[in-house]
Amino acid sequence: MAQEKLKKEKTLAMRNRLIGQSCRLFYSEDPVKIVRARGQYLFDEKGQRYLDCISNVHHVGHCHPAVTKAAAAQMELLNTNARFLHDNIVLYADRLAATLPEKLCVFYFVNSGSEANDLALRLAQEYTQHEDVLVLDHAYHGHLMSLIDISPYKFRKLRGQKEWVHVAPLPDTYRGIYREDHPNPGQAYAETVKDVIEEINRKGRKLSAFFAESLPSVGGQIVLPKGYSSKVAEYVRSAGGVFVADEVQTGFGRVGSHFWAFQLHEEGFCPDIVTMGKPMGNGHPLACVATTVDIAGAFTANGVEYFNTFGGNPVSCAIGLAVLDVIEDEDLRGNATRVGAHLKDLFKKLQARHEIIGDVRGVGLFIGVELVTDREKKTPATKTAAWVAKRLKEEDRICVSTDGPWESVLKFKPPMCFSMEDAELVVHCIDRILTGIKSNDLKLENEDI
Ligand code: PMP
Repeated sequence: MAQEKLKKEKTLAMRNRLIGQSCRLFYSEDPVKIVRARGQYLFDEKGQRYLDCISNVHHVGHCHPAVTKAAAAQMELLNTNARFLHDNIVLYADRLAATLPEKLCVFYFVNSGSEANDLALRLAQEYTQHEDVLVLDHAYHGHLMSLIDISPYKFRKLRGQKEWVHVAPLPDTYRGIYREDHPNPGQAYAETVKDVIEEINRKGRKLSAFFAESLPSVGGQIVLPKGYSSKVAEYVRSAGGVFVADEVQTGFGRVGSHFWAFQLHEEGFCPDIVTMGKPMGNGHPLACVATTVDIAGAFTANGVEYFNTFGGNPVSCAIGLAVLDVIEDEDLRGNATRVGAHLKDLFKKLQARHEIIGDVRGVGLFIGVELVTDREKKTPATKTAAWVAKRLKEEDRICVSTDGPWESVLKFKPPMCFSMEDAELVVHCIDRILTGIKSNDLKLENEDI
């Protein structure tokens, strides 16, 4: 067991005193202190094991030995910045290019998803010479000021909606304006984007970019309806804008069948800019923007150098290469397909027995289980979702969290080595907790829990 340097109470007291309180802890009432991790398991200071269902950053498994070895070896040899010629950055860019459509062949390396989205915004505005941005309702694209402005999830609570930012409805076929029973929800939701673009133009403004996650996460683990993205791209491009796919949460094979979630949507669909982050470095700060020759050319043409002190350094790129190797060597996409399908199937079976499960959705190891108090009205069961997450942690040492506009969706985005047994365990435990709520007639939605 790794040595605990401070007693847990002391760590917590110091944290409360020294770290800004807006940086919140998981399980604020009784935080877990994790001292080491491996694969999909976390270990606390007492050596107790927790099953991790939410760390999509630790994509190939916590502290994967191939990744830590590559990092240590490169760190011992050299770490400079991208102004020096070095093999790692080009070898890594080349490997990424092989995963993407041919058109997306120019790369900028940065250190976080937020930096990637901020740069995507700059690229789009420079290329189009337009200012306005269209985003999906409830979206989150990062913590920089520029991204708070294009994240309804944040700006509604903070800075308000800027006149250059526009919001289209979330294409949620479970509870949105067009649902599963609609004959063509993809087209119908794309028309809502067209309407917003027309409104932008009527105001004499011009669209630079449409930003969307390929599977909206904070929106509640939403799967975009078929045909939506290519139709939207058509409308966006005819307005002179570009399509930015935020793959910060969804990329690198999480969906199993494809390397990128935007490839799920339709054969041949290709965004103009793709941003990536979280899983790229398996926990090391590594993120990236991929774009076309034309867009990159416009950014170069302004004559201003783009320099990023840490972005694309030899250590980061060595780590990125090792992550790609592990995804392939361990067939983690195949695992995400198999285990994800099993997990979803088990939840569907649970849904047949528990009224409170309103919807089970997702693809690969990106799954959402939405809880509702009334299936007809789809009233979000926010408190029950929080209760389930809390019980899972306290009774079973399983880490699950909630998402969606009402925090009523239990989300599953585990490391990609998540196993069939892990899937069975988590569903078994949720079954027990939901059965307990029913048999004790707990009306959690009306109570303070
Ligand atoms: N885009 C999406 C979809 C995200 O979920 C996040 C982080 N949660 C970001 C961008 C920002 O990434 P980072 O926290 O690495 O800056």
